[in-house]
Amino acid sequence: MLVAGAGPVGLAVAVLAATSGFDVLVADPRVDQAGGEPIDKACGEGLLPLGLRRLRGLGVDPPGRPLAGIRYLRATGGPTADARFRAGPGRGVRRTVLQGALAARAADAGVAVIRGAVVGLAQDERAVAVRLRGDGGEAVVRARWLVGADGLHSLVRRTSGLASAAPRRARYGLRRHVAVSPWTDFVEVHWAPHAEAYVTPVADDLVGVALLCRGRPGSWDAGFAAFPRLAERLGAAASAPVRGAGPVRGAGPLRQVARRRVAGRVLLVGDAAGYVDALTGEGISVGVAQAQALVGALRLGDPQQYERAWWAVTRRYRVLTGALVGAAGHPLVRPLIVPAARRLPPAYAALVNLLE
Ligand SMILES: Cc1cc2nc3c(=O)[nH]c(=O)nc-3n(C[C@H](O)[C@H](O)[C@H](O)COP(=O)(O)OP(=O)(O)OC[C@H]3O[C@@H](n4cnc5c(N)ncnc54)[C@H](O)[C@@H]3O)c2cc1C
Repeated sequence: MLVAGAGPVGLAVAVLAATSGFDVLVADPRVDQAGGEPIDKACGEGLLPLGLRRLRGLGVDPPGRPLAGIRYLRATGGPTADARFRAGPGRGVRRTVLQGALAARAADAGVAVIRGAVVGLAQDERAVAVRLRGDGGEAVVRARWLVGADGLHSLVRRTSGLASAAPRRARYGLRRHVAVSPWTDFVEVHWAPHAEAYVTPVADDLVGVALLCRGRPGSWDAGFAAFPRLAERLGAAASAPVRGAGPVRGAGPLRQVARRRVAGRVLLVGDAAGYVDALTGEGISVGVAQAQALVGALRLGDPQQYERAWWAVTRRYRVLTGALVGAAGHPLVRPLIVPAARRLPPAYAALVNLLE
């Protein structure tokens, strides 16, 4: 099996496949083969309780800060709405820490990881011929299965004819770290009129802040100006560089659609298979669930079973996150979201506990 992409979902597929008896090669142009920094990416860095359980099921238990639940609040002030996780805590985990833990587990499982990008493919009934471009030039690798775990802008999705037109009204995300001690064990979602900021405690002296908004954000400072309450809480640290935390990172358009997940011997998983939005922080959990379904189907030699299972394992995420993003995009409904969460605590708690 050749896996394109060594992000969390590609590595989850690789671990599950290797421990099921497949020979697995993972290729990613961002892998540092000298064993340097793990791959970083724009991410809110919150693992919901179910996501944490799924990672533990792979043998991965990265260190971080416990998360008790989700708090909604208005960007300008006013009362908050808190919902606690009933299934035990989630965890805020630096993206690089998660990547490092998954990469170590993959190495343990005998997965080979190389630095290289998939740049083309052709398949017949027996195998996929995958063109890989690495430091030493191009080579063709024949694999029985090609798994596209190559993220939002998946080349595997585009070159295998599985891509669908990008929806209008694109949303984007930005993320940076701020060196402050977390003041709460809740993930805070601050709602501004046209953007959300969510804050995740990830270490004793560090929080991650992710901004989500419609349209391409001009800059971090321009986006962050919509969150005075958060700016006051973070103080001068909000704009100070953080040693070892890397630059502001961006991602988007977030919404991506695939026509199907399977074309012959090519399968899509994780963000490459279709993505709704980062607002509910479920990408990694839902991605690991997809990885389980994919490897289960290939163990039976039945890729179409994965297509059916994909719809089932992503249903809750697609419906709930799609509905919340739809409501958040409606000018009359959006201002009611935080007050509704506050006035209807049981409904808000029930929704938070349906998240993956
Ligand atoms: C702002 C923001 C906040 C988020 N917050 C959260 C959160 O709090 N919790 C959560 O669970 N999820 C969150 N997500 C979603 C989560 O980050 C993604 O769902 C997750 O990273 C998906 O993993 P993946 O392995 O599918 O893709 P990725 O992590 O994108 O990995 C894809 C990999 O493929 C590689 N690649 C690209 N092209 C090629 C190629 N041609 N050949 C080979 N390799 C290639 C890339 O280098 C990359 O390493 C957030 C996302 C954003 C944008």
